[in-house]
Amino acid sequence: MHCRKPLLFALLLTLPLFAHSEDTRTTPAEHGIAVSSIDMSIRPGDDFYHYANGSWINRTTLPPDRSSLGAFNLLVDRSNKRVAALIEEAAKSNAAPNSDNRRIADLYHSYMDEASIESHGLTSIKPVLDEIAAVHTQKELARALGLSLRADVDALNNTNFHTANIFGLWVAPGFNDPDHYAAYLLQGGIQLPNRDYYLADSPHMNDIREKYKAHIAKMFELAGLSDPTTRAARVYALEHAIAEKQLSLAESEDIHKANNVWTPADFSAKAPGLDWPEFFKASGLDKQQSFIVWQPTAFTAESALVKSESIEAWKDLLAFHLLESYGGLLPKGISDERFAFNGTTLMGVTQQRPRDIRGVTLVNGILGDAVGQLYAKQYFSPEAKAQVESLVANLKAAFRTRLEGLTWMAPATKKEAIVKLDALQVSVGYTDHWRSYSGYEVKPDDLFGNVWRSDLFEYHYQVDRIGTPTDRKEWTMEPQTVNAVNLPLHNALNFPAAILEPPFFDPQAPNAANYGAIGTVIGHEISHTFDSEGAAFDDRGRVRNWWTPEDFAHFKKTTDALAAQYDTYSPFPDVHLNGRQTLSENIADVAGVSAAFDAYRASLKGQPAPMVDNLTGDQQFFIAYAQNWCSKVRDNTLRQQVLTDPHSPGMYRTATVRNIDGWYAAFKVAPTDKLYLAPDARVRIW
Ligand SMILES: [Zn+2]
Repeated sequence: MHCRKPLLFALLLTLPLFAHSEDTRTTPAEHGIAVSSIDMSIRPGDDFYHYANGSWINRTTLPPDRSSLGAFNLLVDRSNKRVAALIEEAAKSNAAPNSDNRRIADLYHSYMDEASIESHGLTSIKPVLDEIAAVHTQKELARALGLSLRADVDALNNTNFHTANIFGLWVAPGFNDPDHYAAYLLQGGIQLPNRDYYLADSPHMNDIREKYKAHIAKMFELAGLSDPTTRAARVYALEHAIAEKQLSLAESEDIHKANNVWTPADFSAKAPGLDWPEFFKASGLDKQQSFIVWQPTAFTAESALVKSESIEAWKDLLAFHLLESYGGLLPKGISDERFAFNGTTLMGVTQQRPRDIRGVTLVNGILGDAVGQLYAKQYFSPEAKAQVESLVANLKAAFRTRLEGLTWMAPATKKEAIVKLDALQVSVGYTDHWRSYSGYEVKPDDLFGNVWRSDLFEYHYQVDRIGTPTDRKEWTMEPQTVNAVNLPLHNALNFPAAILEPPFFDPQAPNAANYGAIGTVIGHEISHTFDSEGAAFDDRGRVRNWWTPEDFAHFKKTTDALAAQYDTYSPFPDVHLNGRQTLSENIADVAGVSAAFDAYRASLKGQPAPMVDNLTGDQQFFIAYAQNWCSKVRDNTLRQQVLTDPHSPGMYRTATVRNIDGWYAAFKVAPTDKLYLAPDARVRIW
């Protein structure tokens, strides 16, 4: 499902999207769907999302430190509380130097010690700012840009296409050789969430841009740099020029455009401007024989801008991006200014999360596997693992039956699809291969240094993996993460322990609720194997066309219809969803719900399902699905989500029930209802 992709680290620091507790169920003791969330005054066929969740939405107020609040919060809050307790234990244990427990304790302490942060002022970040200020030549600029490279993007797993650094490194199994890790390079260079924030013409965006320019100037002023307004104008102009040359998110998601293998010499030939040998030397990549360049046109254009724009403008951009990335770790003046723009202006949140919650998020982000080992030991039982594994097996079986029953697909293609499904490797709870933090130095009163060293530690870890054999059992999420993910290059799924919790998964709940909640999540992840991206990979994760032209034409026609369906949804008069940008996720939703519904029906073995509050089992199934996506969101956060997230907002994910025949039967949906689609207009993919 990856219900949301992990945000940028810097954003996470101040704005965990989920946390804090407000139960979306009436009472914690309730098992199954939340009847009290339903709004009986709404016809299910008109607006299924508000029918299933309307009462909860009406009675809920967003606290000032929240950008959104919903079903996922309950689980995230539970996970955060447990992690906070684990951190406290680690702090009390008087752990040996260089042990993970000591790292956990010292890192958390360095975040909580505000007096120490104030007393250090900007001394910790100053040497990095000085290095940027000392740049005078193109060669030195190339070196500074190379030193800024981090492993901070991810095109296919946790799907994060944004970095403010000029480029971003992603190390993952190679498109052309998935048995070894390859170096992927992605476009970057802008600070705002994506190119639309620079280019879209609307009063909302114009307003944000004016506030952004003032914010850049303010950050320079607080850092004690001269001529803040002049510098801000230079940074904005340069970012705008970069934004014009970037590919959109929808274009970036098209993996058929991304498999561009470049040798080091190709960079100088195809993207002249930047001193590439110097860039690669500074970034430690000068020994690499080849790279996969995700958006070649952006590389050509950005490299040209390195030459054509002034060195001063690039230095200002580097300095501002540094301050913005790490501002949340600096004294209150800078930290508050950074929140005022990124939290309040961009997302509509007026108050920061409590510091201890931000501290937990920080430790989770930096020492995720160290915390995760403790979490898995204490909070995930072998029984829960076995139960979820059997649910997954049932979902896989339902999916297999659907594949076998397809009438539009040639037998040979169908055979390949089934081979791929059978080879899909499902991991539940936590990884078998924990990450080592040996060599990562944490000091109890050096917050900036701790995070800086962590970013470099992660970067070197990833660089060192390039060319080594792929770990097919690798996880890209920690057990304490409330999320799930499909890894197309591994042909594998991860279901972390923290999402396998009530109300998503509750051994005491009726089957209808479990299949509607966690079952649709599992179905969603399985079906990513066959979404618009997943369908390009074979059972070993190779990019290989295993389709006949007729099959692919049918698949494309059907998925185009789904993209068109999602294009019609408009949360605001000036904003509509991008059906192409959200296509993979929308395919996974419609296929996931279909398979979960089949698996649910199969689980009844012909027996009638227990009624809950006069609701049939089928009705409970669809309500449970809709209640996964129950949430209250601030307008500006929702706007940002529509522009930057490959997932559709929850209310539109819910609306995909209109493509499923079983939903029409369950709620007696009539042609006069707003969500009604004639049978031949319903999108059926798998
Ligand atoms: Zn997904």
